[in-house]
Amino acid sequence: MKRSRTLGDKQTARSSKAEEDAGNSSEAGNTSGGPDGAGADMGEAKWEPPNWETVLENIKQMRIGKDAPVDTMGCERTMEDNVAPKVRRFQTLLSLMLSSQTKDPVTYAAMERLKSGRSLTIDKILDMSEEELGKTIIPVGFWKKKSIYIQKTSQILRDKYNDDIPDTIEGLCSLPGVGPKMAYIAMNVAWEKNAGIGVDTHVHRISNRLGWTGKKETKNPEATRKALESWLPSEVWQEFNILLVGFGQTVCVPLKPKCSSCLNNQLCPFGKAELRSRKGSTKKSKKSKFPKEEESSDDVDEISKYF
Ligand code: SF4
Repeated sequence: MKRSRTLGDKQTARSSKAEEDAGNSSEAGNTSGGPDGAGADMGEAKWEPPNWETVLENIKQMRIGKDAPVDTMGCERTMEDNVAPKVRRFQTLLSLMLSSQTKDPVTYAAMERLKSGRSLTIDKILDMSEEELGKTIIPVGFWKKKSIYIQKTSQILRDKYNDDIPDTIEGLCSLPGVGPKMAYIAMNVAWEKNAGIGVDTHVHRISNRLGWTGKKETKNPEATRKALESWLPSEVWQEFNILLVGFGQTVCVPLKPKCSSCLNNQLCPFGKAELRSRKGSTKKSKKSKFPKEEESSDDVDEISKYF
């Protein structure tokens, strides 16, 4: 994956600056108000987490094998070849709509079934009955609701967008069943525009574990997106989702993250506390709003919010 900037001297300077800005160190390493912290002041130097460039470079190193499900079955991999660009864009959006609360292999298989026979176009979706569409996409999560929203969205795309998808976040989010995460990824993948960071449950969880959301943990993916975009350079945004999703599927998994073998375990607040805890240190692990018992799903979007 292409490096977006040269690390090294710049990183050292940035880290020193961040520490200087931050004042006294804390357990999380986030010492200023952060993006959503009480002490944040837009007039002051921009906050950024210490060592973030090293941490990101380490994640790139751990992702070098591209062996995560998202690398072979994510929405970038489900489009048909040799179809019109707007058909590819529609297929990207469709794949994203299917992917909420659904593992990548299940979404991928549903897209393969939808593509079988004839090309997967808006016509094809509108020619199917709701029941037929539902049966085809089972067992994706919320398949019944998704069938309804996919057909409603397809009709809107036919009537208002000349069989294409909107090219703005607002337009995409106005479609039934399309939330911010899908919209930002669709802008990136379908339109190749850098509108913002696509934040799903993996990006949300990992960003909080790393202390990249500021002084406090963020409550939802949208808050995480805003926190990240307040300091992460925009040149990194487009690669950020797939980097972290794959990392979250293979190393920084929801349940029992592989901190002992993670290259960031001396830089990540959650990992440092986790390793201390495993060694039986008397110092308590950093409390997280991601208790292990709740981390049972690979992909837990806030679907109810967007549907
Ligand atoms: S040290 Fe653990 S929690 Fe931190 S990024 Fe690595 S795997 Fe995730």
